[in-house]
Amino acid sequence: METYDVVVIGGGHNGLACAALLAKAGMSVVVYERESVVGGAAVSETGVWPGYTLSMASYVLSTFDPWLIEELDLRSYGLEFYRKDPYAFTPLVDGRSLLLGSDRAANAREIAAFDPSDVAGFEAYGELTDRAGQALFNAFSDLEPRFDKFDRELQAVFRGSAADLVERHVKTPVLQAELVNDGLIGTYLGPRDAGTGYVLAHHLAGRVLGIQGAWAYVRGGMGSVSRALALAARKHGAKIVTGRRVEQVLTFGSRAIGVLLDDGRDIAARAIASNAHPRSTFLDLLHEGVFDGPFVDKVLQWKTVGPSLKLNLGLGELPNFTARPGSDPQPHHRATIHVAPSIDYLQKAHDDARTEGASKEPLIECFLQTPTDPRLAPDGKHILSVFAQWYPYDRPDGWTPAARDAAADTIVEILGRVAPNLPGAIEHRQVLAAPDLERRFGLIGGHIFHGELLPGQIFEERFPTRTPVANLYLCGSGAHPGGCVSGFPGKRAAAIILGDLERNAAASSAGATS
Ligand SMILES: Cc1cc2nc3c(=O)[nH]c(=O)nc-3n(C[C@H](O)[C@H](O)[C@H](O)COP(=O)(O)OP(=O)(O)OC[C@H]3O[C@@H](n4cnc5c(N)ncnc54)[C@H](O)[C@@H]3O)c2cc1C
Repeated sequence: METYDVVVIGGGHNGLACAALLAKAGMSVVVYERESVVGGAAVSETGVWPGYTLSMASYVLSTFDPWLIEELDLRSYGLEFYRKDPYAFTPLVDGRSLLLGSDRAANAREIAAFDPSDVAGFEAYGELTDRAGQALFNAFSDLEPRFDKFDRELQAVFRGSAADLVERHVKTPVLQAELVNDGLIGTYLGPRDAGTGYVLAHHLAGRVLGIQGAWAYVRGGMGSVSRALALAARKHGAKIVTGRRVEQVLTFGSRAIGVLLDDGRDIAARAIASNAHPRSTFLDLLHEGVFDGPFVDKVLQWKTVGPSLKLNLGLGELPNFTARPGSDPQPHHRATIHVAPSIDYLQKAHDDARTEGASKEPLIECFLQTPTDPRLAPDGKHILSVFAQWYPYDRPDGWTPAARDAAADTIVEILGRVAPNLPGAIEHRQVLAAPDLERRFGLIGGHIFHGELLPGQIFEERFPTRTPVANLYLCGSGAHPGGCVSGFPGKRAAAIILGDLERNAAASSAGATS
């Protein structure tokens, strides 16, 4: 029987990071990925539309572990990224707009045009979120994560609502909406709900390019992260097999001993690392009765109803915003483009989904990478990556093709209010609702983070890397510190697996000599 030190189930970026580190440490490693390409939700797809390369799911990078870049020499495998700056732009229907970036003086001017008294509050907000982000980032590598390691003020921020945090600092509605947005990404809660403060801080924890809270575009799209990790893993001797699904984790008593593949082969391993969603790992890949009742309850109660919809658009020209006219690339085309004028707009978007099954006027954030990376589209064409909420997986009237089209039409209509040329500029469109994210990426419930990143599902309450089945580990976003293209869950799993394998080897050689 084929035998390895470690089998990795799934070639998402975390599985690849885990495989690369283990292979570098001298382990024999194989990765089985069910799709024909590696990367999971960090993927650049070619072939969706002729001549385009699409970051089909994730599109911007912040929380990625800089240590991995150095340790695996990822730049030598083509990984390159550059700052998204300015970082946020909200055009309003009345012709005003707000643009924020790294330039403090420019931010002060932008904010003062709405309300000069908010400039100081914005600075104070930045200081607090930098502190929260830094503290989180420093805890992302922890092998034994604990929520109570944070001081009381930060714990209160993480347990509180994003709206509360923002409203304590600034008063201008559009500024409040722009800031609160980070607390809502991926979560099926509204801005006034407790716990969204954590989501906000998680999105400001990254330290890409050495700058706290900065976000970056990856040249060539998000798949370049996964590609670099896969090349590093192969260079260190890991085998990566695509188009091969793991059907089952094989157990002997309460120990995992290998996997069964969809071609009928059994593969033996000393350790199995699963990059799959926790619910797939524990409910689909293992037979019943391996876990005790409380653990099964945790799996069943895991909050993983995804509220996000991804709309990828191929454009014949850049959006021409009434508030900042022009279809030639301008600074605001680099920023995340928002449409919400206030926190109330966002709260209503959420509340409508709870009562009516979907937002009537959703949260929308858009990204245009093509002004700075034109090779992603044919000459003169552009890609608008649109991320929208709330369009929950379990909407009562179901996700019919008509429901998908209606959601996309609404989003385009809303964008057309601030960029009137946009609806006519669309040449291609791809709608990925939560069930599509589940089908294509294995994200159960369509949840982009393998489950909510909220108190109750973070730190020691996320799934443990070392699962209750001996030799079976979680190396994906279901483990600490959760979702985003960060590589931390994969790195942590590699460290824990290596430690366990070395301890086991030492114990058996001690047993053999005694
Ligand atoms: C629409 C969308 C937008 C997002 N935007 C961003 C963003 O801009 N920035 C950011 O940082 N994060 C973003 N995220 C979140 C981020 O992409 C994910 O949290 C992250 O990519 C998850 O990585 P992972 O390696 O843990 O798991 P995944 O990417 O889910 O990888 C798991 C892999 O396991 C494979 N697999 C599952 N079961 C099996 C099996 N039985 N056999 C073999 N293979 C299997 C899957 O096919 C998949 O490739 C976004 C996610 C989505 C969906």
